[in-house]
Amino acid sequence: MASIITITSGKGGVGKTTTAINLGIALAGFGREVVIVDANLSTPNIGLHLGAPIVPISLNHVLCGEASISDAVYEHESGTKIVPSSLSIKLMKTVEGEKLKEVGKKLKRIADYVIYDSAAGLGEEAIAAMNAADELIIVTNPEIPAVTDALKTSKVINDLNKKIKGVIVTRLRNSKTEMPLKNIEEMLELPILGTIPEDKNIQAAIFAKNAILCTHPKSKASIAYKTIAAKILGINYKERVGFWSRLFNSF
Ligand code: ADP
Ligand code: MG
Repeated sequence: MASIITITSGKGGVGKTTTAINLGIALAGFGREVVIVDANLSTPNIGLHLGAPIVPISLNHVLCGEASISDAVYEHESGTKIVPSSLSIKLMKTVEGEKLKEVGKKLKRIADYVIYDSAAGLGEEAIAAMNAADELIIVTNPEIPAVTDALKTSKVINDLNKKIKGVIVTRLRNSKTEMPLKNIEEMLELPILGTIPEDKNIQAAIFAKNAILCTHPKSKASIAYKTIAAKILGINYKERVGFWSRLFNSF
């Protein structure tokens, strides 16, 4: 059955958008239909990360009732479908959770996974994306302020009676100053789905306005995102030379 997964965090800048895009593309690489939705309406980023041109119809138009969702779905070179938000301040509206839920329901008809990238914090916008989800993934960095904010977020999600799939810890440098994974798991009382290492190719990918999975499919972070996607799908996955590049080149 199709599922809406919202990628959330407490703290901003921890790697939500990078995760929504690359986890989505990794799931698509395993043959699933994926739609990535930019539900961060106040500061949309998906278009910037993927170099999408200013699109004529965005999620904002759909939420305003000016267009139907099928008109706001665009295809990325990876085969993943994208629903961008508009950078135009004029089109910025308060997000109605119910409308976001409706959008997700419609997208589930064409996808196995609908992935919502959401705003940081616990404001109205972030809560709307949480409410629209069937399940959530919390992204954090291995630092006390980020994990503390993640804990606050997980409590809010619990109060909304939503299921948390687990936590993705990003930008791991394996430094002594980082919070150990065991402590993160204990503090959040949630399973860690996987970790993403600090990888300078992510900056290179953002500069190239594309996903690291497309620009550097064999990089450390790409392999880590593919590993998490495989875990979510219950697939046995070990990186094999040539396998993913062939798969991605065939899109
Ligand atoms: P958020 O959506 O939570 O605000 P982003 O996904 O936009 O976070 O990431 C913020 C910045 O962190 C990005 O611009 C990117 O440069 C950097 N970043 C994210 N993940 C990694 C990583 N694994 N390695 C290196 N840099 C990363
Ligand atoms: Mg973001």
